[in-house]
Amino acid sequence: MPTPRIDINLKKIAHNVKVLSSLFKSKGINIIVVTKGVCADPHIANILVKSGVKILADSRIANIKKMQEAGVKATFLLIRTPMISQAESVVLDTDMSLNSELSVIKKLSEFALLHRKVHKIILMVELGDLREGILPSQLENTIKKVLTLKGIELKGIGTNLACFSGVKPTTEKMDMLSTIAVSIEKKFHIKLSIISGGNSANYNWFSTTKDVGRINNLRLGESIFLGYEPLTGKPIPKLYQDAFMLVAEVIELKNKSSVPNGEIGLDAFGNKPKFKDQGMIRRAILAMGVQDVMVTGLTPKLDIEILGAGGDHIIINAKKEDLKVGSDVSFTLKYGALVTAMNSSYISKNIITPISAAAYCTIIEEKDRFHKKNTAIMPINEDHSPLISLQDSDFNLIFEKSIQKNYRYLVRKEVYKKIGRISKLLDNLGKKLIIRSAWRSFEHQQKLWDQKASFMKNKYPKKTEEEINEIVSMFIAPKRQSTHATGGAVDALIYDLRKKCVLNFGTNDGLHIDLNKKCYPKHPDISEEAKKNRKLLMKLFEDEDFVCDHKEYWHFDYGNIGWAVEKNKEYANYGILEESFVQSANLQYPDKVFFYL
Ligand SMILES: *Cc1c(COP(=O)(O)O)cnc(C)c1O
Repeated sequence: MPTPRIDINLKKIAHNVKVLSSLFKSKGINIIVVTKGVCADPHIANILVKSGVKILADSRIANIKKMQEAGVKATFLLIRTPMISQAESVVLDTDMSLNSELSVIKKLSEFALLHRKVHKIILMVELGDLREGILPSQLENTIKKVLTLKGIELKGIGTNLACFSGVKPTTEKMDMLSTIAVSIEKKFHIKLSIISGGNSANYNWFSTTKDVGRINNLRLGESIFLGYEPLTGKPIPKLYQDAFMLVAEVIELKNKSSVPNGEIGLDAFGNKPKFKDQGMIRRAILAMGVQDVMVTGLTPKLDIEILGAGGDHIIINAKKEDLKVGSDVSFTLKYGALVTAMNSSYISKNIITPISAAAYCTIIEEKDRFHKKNTAIMPINEDHSPLISLQDSDFNLIFEKSIQKNYRYLVRKEVYKKIGRISKLLDNLGKKLIIRSAWRSFEHQQKLWDQKASFMKNKYPKKTEEEINEIVSMFIAPKRQSTHATGGAVDALIYDLRKKCVLNFGTNDGLHIDLNKKCYPKHPDISEEAKKNRKLLMKLFEDEDFVCDHKEYWHFDYGNIGWAVEKNKEYANYGILEESFVQSANLQYPDKVFFYL
């Protein structure tokens, strides 16, 4: 991957816009998304439209044209008061514009007539921030004239705060805009369909106000892309703050002094630098500088400190982080950093696209075929470790009833210990591990196979034996290939003690699991809750060095051929243990009542 680059996660942007849209919609406010902060990147624009956004806004006509030429299907709003010299292009290339100058609107009218078009406008009202806007005292006068202009449709009014002077969009300011809207409608007998209250800085007003009044629109950029509220810099709940990540590479790493050596004059940018004496430190240089990005808007993901930057270098104190020459260092961005990075031709734009379910399944199936080929030739160096029944343990476990009579939930000794540690972790979370299955004899495996095959035969009576076998083999291994015969495989789910139910993993109803492609562990089309629960289950086992099956989120392997291939080992430790071996093993059962579900 090239560096420096900006990683753009479209899925996270889509999530943020959906969360904010439905939040604002809950009080009747529609949102327009402002694309200027991301240079109107068409990939981003398209994901916004796909997420339900109808109007895209930008301050530059060139950006609007870029989106149109890339085939983005939306209504386009120009949000910077148009240049009079560009009036014709405004009429031809945009659908709507924010305005504050009558002379400009007159020109828009002329070109609208010339091109037989109707151009929609929103009049901006000055409420104290002292950037664009008509003074409230002059608004009626302006509207009176605007209403006489042919080719111009007055869609509404709006205001912009918290930009030039940082004036907060308070309830008082918003109520003022509502009152102005009501009085205009009354006076001119018109209906204003858009009352646009502001930008991302309106979040706190929105969250705390009881009544949004007539405000029914906001124009949002920053909060959607960066997930925080600009007035305080606080993260907005449920949003991602890392949809954009800037990545730079370490080009030098040395122990050097924290203070320079010599007489100090002005630096490369004419400033007199100051230094804090921290003794000797690990100084790293990154190949990125203020020519690429507004460095003051960067927040490192690692525990490092930005000491300063030049045109082409950022100097950091690497502290205790494990960095070397060639390492990538990632940053989240504030708005200034986002805008400059997106604008920089030195920074490559890396779009991370959400994977479709079909593409994900194809990748998994390909991987699984490759995996099966390799497991077939994986050598086994049997370590003869014993099988122990999980029912002999004092671990807090729940057992799923088995079709096999007197099933004993046997696992290898090492696996037994791992399950013990996992069950302890779950105890602290108010949850319990459900053991569905562990060591299985060939006879047991055959039973499962036959059960599934007869179910499928009933479901698809026209299919041949071979076709049935193929479907069944997608989810149940033929007896001699099952890793469950090694004592290194465990099927597990999690029970929630508080809610008194099996967690939702996306394809289960309690213990019953529908066998389909959504059982592939990271399938994109399951609910967020199911994703979270699968993540928990997989993390518990993976932290104990298990590997999760490619196609079944509940199946975990350790020590056997499946595990050895996935972990790139030279050989597996656990081979198949046949019934005869297990029968002869001396197993003890204390008098216990097991918890079956
Ligand atoms: C930039 C801009 C916005 C969007 O501001 P964010 O802080 O990015 O939400 C809205 N309206 C106008 C007029 C703007 O110039």
